[in-house]
Amino acid sequence: MGLSVGAWQRLTDEAVRILCCQRCAAAGGGAASQPFWVGDAYEPGGVVLVGRNPAGKPLPEPALQLLGRLRDEPSVAAFLDWSRWRIAHMTSTPWTQWRRAFAKVVDGFCTPERLAWLNVVPFPTPGDARPSSAMLAHGRDEHLAPMLTEVLRPSIVVARYVDAARAVAAIGGPWQADGLLALTGRNADPHEIEAARAALRTHGLRDHAPATSFQWRIALAACV
Ligand SMILES: [Zn+2]
Repeated sequence: MGLSVGAWQRLTDEAVRILCCQRCAAAGGGAASQPFWVGDAYEPGGVVLVGRNPAGKPLPEPALQLLGRLRDEPSVAAFLDWSRWRIAHMTSTPWTQWRRAFAKVVDGFCTPERLAWLNVVPFPTPGDARPSSAMLAHGRDEHLAPMLTEVLRPSIVVARYVDAARAVAAIGGPWQADGLLALTGRNADPHEIEAARAALRTHGLRDHAPATSFQWRIALAACV
């Protein structure tokens, strides 16, 4: 069972709330806020990625058009179009945080369509500076916490950078026991990645890593 119709509507409402948040707009210094994305196949109890804030690169024109449509004519379809565009852009470009950290954890376990990605602070900070503690608190309490606790309810959160891990740790939810997996270094530490992958296995996620040619040969031999 995926998310309910009501949950998709709530996600859409919260994404629009981010786009219209005066406090985020002021702190972002004019940069467009960038709401979270949620894959079509995400299910409650799943895996959610949480970063600190979006990268400062200007958004490409198609992204700005999708956000404009979401803000001016809000609909679940507009939110899904935004999410699909973000996933395609993330995997084809690919985004640094995806390539260096998140993908290394979830590869073989979850396709992006089964994930969601949120940032504590939903706007790029001027000069890519670390967000102030006041902005981290605003993002956590106003934008991140309601999504985690009321809609997505993941059992596992993979957090990128210490500020993201701290924000998620401060929010009560099913991930508190052993489901908060932190990737703290600029190039995610191989030990942290392996520990996170082991935790995904412990939580019962199956590793669908592509079979090696050797495994294929054995499988083919067994079919003869
Ligand atoms: Zn805000």
